Amino acid sequence: MIPLSELVLASHNTGKLKELQAMLGAAVRVRSIGEFSDVEPLESGLSFVENAILKARHAARVSGLPALADDSGLAVDFLGGAPGIYSARYADGRGDAANNAKLLEVLKDVPDAERGAQFVCCLALLRHAEDPLPIICEGRWHGQILHAVRGAQGFGYDPLFWVAERDCSSAELAPAEKNRISHRARAMALLKQRLGLA
Ligand code: IMP
Repeated sequence: MIPLSELVLASHNTGKLKELQAMLGAAVRVRSIGEFSDVEPLESGLSFVENAILKARHAARVSGLPALADDSGLAVDFLGGAPGIYSARYADGRGDAANNAKLLEVLKDVPDAERGAQFVCCLALLRHAEDPLPIICEGRWHGQILHAVRGAQGFGYDPLFWVAERDCSSAELAPAEKNRISHRARAMALLKQRLGLA
């Protein structure tokens, strides 16, 4: 457990910042990387954890503050974990619908039993830029890739992700319900425990 009163989030996404601030509560002030730098670090890692650390290290360096970064995506068993860290740009930057269409095409002859997948969220917290002991919290959410899109909530691969325990796709879950059980919720809960805030 490390005492923290302030940290910088390695993301320009104000939605993510608000969500994290709400989760951590008033005891920890969450600041945006945008206050310190517009430069995006090169995400040159080959795994979620490597990229989360790269982003957090950059944020700690430019801010002089403890820094938190997240990296997330979809890992499909049959594809050896692809699209993985490339989830956002799987269809070369053409957006969520194109990503889903590509995944359906790639898996079109794959039977149900081999369509297992997981959403992954990796959080990395560094106390300072040279910290050799990052806190790593990973959340995984297991499901199956459907044969067609279902549901209109959420984003990304939600319409293709079958959640057996709720008998629906993750795009058919109410947002509050998804936020309780998702990979991100699991990683965040672990982080709160590690910070002594749970
Ligand atoms: P980010 O790093 O959190 O922006 O997520 C990277 C990519 O992973 C997103 O653009 C989505 O394609 C995918 N992804 C991550 N989390 C989710 C989720 O909760 N639902 C659907 N897709 C997700």
